[in-house]
Amino acid sequence: MESRSTIIQNDKTSEDAAQIALPLICNDVAIGALYVDVGQDFQRKDQSLLEAFSRQLARNLQRNELRNKELPHKTWWSSFSTYSLENRLEITNLVHGIIREQSFSAAASSYLKEAHAIAYLDGTLAYVNQRMKKLANLNSQDLNEMDLFKLLERFKTDVFNEPILAIRRVMQTGDSFECELNFAAEKTLSLQITLVKIPVNDQSIHETNVIKIPACFLITFRDVTAHKENEKLRSDLVHLMSHELRTPITSIQGFAEMLTYESEISEDSREYLKIIAEESNRAAKTLSNFLSVANLEQSDKQEVIKSPVKINRVVREVAEDYEKAAKCKRIRIVEQRSKYIPPIAADQGLITKAISHLVDNAIRYSPERSSVIISTILETDFLRVDVEDRGYGIPRSEQEKIWQKFYRVAHDGQDKQEETTGLGLSMVKEIIEQHNGEVSVQSEVGRGSRFSFKIPRL
Ligand code: ADP
Repeated sequence: MESRSTIIQNDKTSEDAAQIALPLICNDVAIGALYVDVGQDFQRKDQSLLEAFSRQLARNLQRNELRNKELPHKTWWSSFSTYSLENRLEITNLVHGIIREQSFSAAASSYLKEAHAIAYLDGTLAYVNQRMKKLANLNSQDLNEMDLFKLLERFKTDVFNEPILAIRRVMQTGDSFECELNFAAEKTLSLQITLVKIPVNDQSIHETNVIKIPACFLITFRDVTAHKENEKLRSDLVHLMSHELRTPITSIQGFAEMLTYESEISEDSREYLKIIAEESNRAAKTLSNFLSVANLEQSDKQEVIKSPVKINRVVREVAEDYEKAAKCKRIRIVEQRSKYIPPIAADQGLITKAISHLVDNAIRYSPERSSVIISTILETDFLRVDVEDRGYGIPRSEQEKIWQKFYRVAHDGQDKQEETTGLGLSMVKEIIEQHNGEVSVQSEVGRGSRFSFKIPRL
């Protein structure tokens, strides 16, 4: 304790055994010593680990001791009273210890790859991490004059041209503001402004069900340039491959069909040609679905061109389109269109595609002599479309997964010819989400399924 340094004594008999004494120092005061007797496996490089441990131990001891101590005047004003100098010293020590421990989180955040800033509600900056200083090109002089608004000004783009409006919206709604900012030299940053809330009284910040009030803003910038480049590369590749494949597939399709009309070919060959034609049809359909999904994923949500669409009319047209396919399986299509359905803002082509696919599936995954019901329902804020069948149904464990690309459920009794792509429902989901809507499914094996989507009313 006098030397305030670690002392190590190796055993005479064995090199890897040692007795170690470490001072426990807190706020520059040696409050005790830790004695460790290591019987085996001691290495010199363990010394720094032990020292870090002893520093933490010293802090814990001091914290516990001070918190548990019965101070005669535990209230804060007692530190201003004339009585106890010792009291004041202890409280100062406790506060010092707590502040020091809290500074760890700030130090830790300087290691984060993201740029962070914390600002009080009046815009004063409370903390800016290393990454943010670099990204915003701030020196210590700038930092002194900087506030939240000036900081965000440094990241203005065409899309994010009035930072103050974003801040106001976050304050008003309590929801985070998120956007992607594109800069020259192909740099893309994703920005998030979050309103941090803390409990009104002394409850833990991790508790749920407590009343919280706004405390500060957390600003985060993430560099997503590499991610964006990858996405673009992937999408370019998909488009290139799809277009390259489309031409040969169309030729195979066309020529195989033409050859089936030849009279001088054997029955076997005709059968093979039929298979070639069917399989190339399937490949063409997969490609077209794949391209639709890729296109939808790529496009910005604002890019879907919306106009007033009368959903009842779309349902009518889809039902007519599928009349023939349904008849082949002796399936009855029933329309239950709600009388008063206001128009929705939508891309008519895409919505038609979504409903068509749901009806197509309902017919495909139902046995003969059943029915498919298409309903339109008006809800308070939404317009809902249900497509219901009395078909094979989908096991509960699969119901989440069917919305993923290429996911297919194997149904007993499903015709081999009806092999499909597993892309359709992911396309439907993408279309509905582009319209700020939601998709859902209810299904029971052996009884049928109900696929629904809802889109906000105009
Ligand atoms: P596909 O184009 O292969 O039909 P989807 O994405 O549309 O792909 O559907 C994925 C899987 O979900 C299908 O393989 C099918 O098993 C199941 N599925 C979709 N619709 C229904 C339905 N109405 N009834 C039963 N199963 C369905």
